[in-house]
Amino acid sequence: ALKIDDECINCDVCEPECPNGAISQGEEFYVIDPALCTECVGHYDEPQCMAVCPVDCIDRDPEHPEDKESLYQKYLKLTTA
Ligand code: SF4
Ligand code: SF4
Repeated sequence: ALKIDDECINCDVCEPECPNGAISQGEEFYVIDPALCTECVGHYDEPQCMAVCPVDCIDRDPEHPEDKESLYQKYLKLTTA
């Protein structure tokens, strides 16, 4: 999963781009639900939120490291649920 850091300026550009609805407004800045973020695997070649964020405040979440295969399995689970 990816993670938004405190550089986030709450611009709301990323939220509508997420194919999994994983992004929402948090208490101080936007947050990504690691259970829903597939790093865009299954939908796009690259993480859409990272691609549109104007301040580059989104990166891999060190607490939720995942390889492509497990991300794809998560995508399958989310789309068949
Ligand atoms: Fe959503 Fe993709 Fe960003 Fe994960 S990487 S939060 S799935 S847009
Ligand atoms: Fe925050 Fe970047 Fe999303 Fe804007 S695009 S809300 S700065 S994470």
